[in-house]
Amino acid sequence: MRLWNDYHTPTSIEEALQLLAHYQGRARLVAGGTDLLVEIREGRHAPQDALVDVTHIPEMTTHHQEADGTIWLGAAVTHSHIVQSALLTQAATCLVESCGVVGGPQVRNVGTIGGNVAHALPAGDGTTSLVALDATARVVLDGQEQWVPIEQMFKGPGQSLLDPTRDILIGFRFKASGTHEASAFKRIMRPQGVALPILGCAVWVRLTDGQIADARISIAPIGPTPARATVVEEALRGQPANPASIEQAIAVANEALHPRTSKYRATAPYRQEMIAVLLRRTLPLAIDRARTGQAIPEGIGA
Ligand SMILES: Cc1cc2nc3c(=O)[nH]c(=O)nc-3n(C[C@H](O)[C@H](O)[C@H](O)COP(=O)(O)OP(=O)(O)OC[C@H]3O[C@@H](n4cnc5c(N)ncnc54)[C@H](O)[C@@H]3O)c2cc1C
Repeated sequence: MRLWNDYHTPTSIEEALQLLAHYQGRARLVAGGTDLLVEIREGRHAPQDALVDVTHIPEMTTHHQEADGTIWLGAAVTHSHIVQSALLTQAATCLVESCGVVGGPQVRNVGTIGGNVAHALPAGDGTTSLVALDATARVVLDGQEQWVPIEQMFKGPGQSLLDPTRDILIGFRFKASGTHEASAFKRIMRPQGVALPILGCAVWVRLTDGQIADARISIAPIGPTPARATVVEEALRGQPANPASIEQAIAVANEALHPRTSKYRATAPYRQEMIAVLLRRTLPLAIDRARTGQAIPEGIGA
């Protein structure tokens, strides 16, 4: 079976859009292909007349810090590239940690952050961190180039706001962690598994005078789309950066968050327990990084 007929490697957004328009819905964007090609091969997607590869478009394959301190991260930047970035290690430690556990080295070498988001699975590891970083996505949607808040990129499990036969996810923008700010990501999964986390958690904190001045938390998969745990964030704001505040936030999380039993992941009670475990691992780590300014990523895969 042929998975596609024509394969194009445009070098600009305009060229990619022209190619998609030319094929009128019979061509689809591809980046690393680690989701798409598996799905076509397994019959979950029809073979395509053409694939339009976005990994030769310069603005989509680079990341840098803008003059205003925000980070630009192209959608076609690979997980490996993110893991190796000194800039992102300091500015977005949770993203480096989450991309570092995606699949194995082969998957990380070609799989991209944009493919992770465009695939729209609520368990996407890179996606979970982009939600905690409060990223905004640069997209061409219905012919209009625009910014979209990350949480609005998802319409349901596996359902993106974008139609990859006509729209493009160009990249992301988010604020770099600054002084007294830091983030962390941890994931719990079956040791024998490769692609199905039981639960992942990304947190970002800002400290002021020993207090948690602000916090952002993303725990996934819990709902149909990636989302912030805003009630848990609220419970942390203004509290001392200590274990008692973290336990208080865990109590709130247990009231508010209810992961479902999943045949493949784990039972609901077990996953509920894991929320506490993840918050006890990520929050102290992020708080410590924010206090010391040291960001040494943990748990990066071999
Ligand atoms: C063995 C294995 C293990 C894996 N483990 C993990 C894991 O641990 N954690 C995890 O999160 N994921 C995992 N994945 C899933 C996958 O590798 C990631 O989601 C990866 O980031 C997808 O990126 P990609 O570039 O390969 O996407 P592709 O497969 O190229 O594309 C995915 C989808 O997004 C669309 N698309 C791609 N780029 C764009 C764009 N710029 N604009 C609009 N639409 C676009 C495509 O048309 C397609 O629908 C695993 C996959 C495999 C095969």
